[in-house]
Amino acid sequence: MGERKILIIEDEKPLAEALAYSLGREGYLVDISGDGETGLRRALEEDFDLILLDLMLPGLDGLEVCRELRKEKDTPIIVITARDSDVDKVVGLELGADDYITKPFNPRELLARVKAVLRRTARGRNDIEREILKVGELLMDRARHEVWLADRQIPLSPIEFRLLESLMERPGRALSRNYLISRVWEGDFYGTPKVLDVHIRKLREKLEENPSKPRWIVTVRGVGYRLEAPGSGEQPYTG
Ligand code: CA
Repeated sequence: MGERKILIIEDEKPLAEALAYSLGREGYLVDISGDGETGLRRALEEDFDLILLDLMLPGLDGLEVCRELRKEKDTPIIVITARDSDVDKVVGLELGADDYITKPFNPRELLARVKAVLRRTARGRNDIEREILKVGELLMDRARHEVWLADRQIPLSPIEFRLLESLMERPGRALSRNYLISRVWEGDFYGTPKVLDVHIRKLREKLEENPSKPRWIVTVRGVGYRLEAPGSGEQPYTG
């Protein structure tokens, strides 16, 4: 994936430097622009993964920077605003910013937002590249939110869909229960790990010819589960 590049457009030098320091410690490559014109030019000329944009800038202000940048590029933007009014927030987001944070803020909160925005955009790009997942005769159309096994459409609940999606992204590999739980529930998981097994069982009932002898979703003892394509692997030598 490489290092992520972040541009901070902020005229308050101590704040910009404090932000650059805490982001740098997390492994991001950080650049600072102290005014809107320079910031916009750099954002247009270079490829940043994320821009932290202060709204109150001398000269070209943050709203204009956002508006101009959006005409050309969809670089994710987190708006920083000192004015704690909802109008400003909405305006910022309507201009195509991805998130906002109000001064004064806790650096941890900003870091969490940076990570969330980067995660969202990375996933968005991946999805566009791979709208169709195919493992043997099993096909998932992510854009249409449909799953087909040969000619038969398989109706799935949202959780079953995400679980199968996680398995189909990495076929043939043993995926741990923790990995699957984090992919399906994205940190909002408060149940016991048994909940995962319940959804696996439901998926098997929909996919497998004989759910008690699963050939698609195989249990990997002590680890988790693995998706196989029955009949598509190497045939054992029988001669
Ligand atoms: Ca400012």
